[in-house]
Amino acid sequence: MSFAASVLTLYPEMFPGALGLSLAGRALEAGTWSLEAIQIRDFATDRHRTVDDTPAGGGAGMVMRADVLARAIDHVSPQGDERPRLLMSPRGKPLNQARVRELAAGPGAVILCGRFEGVDQRLIEARALEEVSIGDFILSGGEPAALVLLDAVVRLLPGVMGNAVSGEEESFENDRLEHPHYTRPQEFEGRQIPEVLTSGNHKKIAEWRRAEAEKLTRKRRPDLLATGHPLVK
Ligand code: SAH
Repeated sequence: MSFAASVLTLYPEMFPGALGLSLAGRALEAGTWSLEAIQIRDFATDRHRTVDDTPAGGGAGMVMRADVLARAIDHVSPQGDERPRLLMSPRGKPLNQARVRELAAGPGAVILCGRFEGVDQRLIEARALEEVSIGDFILSGGEPAALVLLDAVVRLLPGVMGNAVSGEEESFENDRLEHPHYTRPQEFEGRQIPEVLTSGNHKKIAEWRRAEAEKLTRKRRPDLLATGHPLVK
């Protein structure tokens, strides 16, 4: 069974976008995953196909209507659909590699992209949407966030990444950042590749990488170490 993504958006033209190229694009063509981008406006009922309205209580901006969004969600994800329903939102739980792995192991995802000030709170509650943030900054819409999430998920699907091992050694997979990388030339502007890496001693190389990863994580992301998981498996 392939991973099925349904994205609800006011800008379906943004999909597959970057995901139509490279690894994700090839996997899309091969049927490893599927993507449908649904125009939310098609579920409006008035002549002007209105999807938003002014905020209750006043204030700037517009809010996406619960009734229109509910119709769109129920259409793409009727009862019995096992896929998680996500709402891209700066107020959501920050996305991490563990959640990405879970999503990749599942049947797919229904992803709602917000615009304007966001969506009516009652929709989030009534459809039990999981709010997901891609970081502490504000985008103009959920579409780039959905592309980011799907990119992270799709590369983990079976057969998408050529070298599966590289995925397991990467940053965040063991609650630590990855070690630095080097490649030819041996000397670049007076800087050498660390000697151990060209020694051919695989045990020493593995030790060096582990130590570098730990050093980097302690310096840049001590919060990762606070999870209590051991640095070394
Ligand atoms: N007024 C809102 C921001 C709205 S931004 C607030 O202050 O919380 C418009 C839309 O962009 C949001 O509904 C959401 O779908 C998307 N978005 C913005 N920043 C995001 C982020 N960091 N992660 C995920 N989605 C985001």
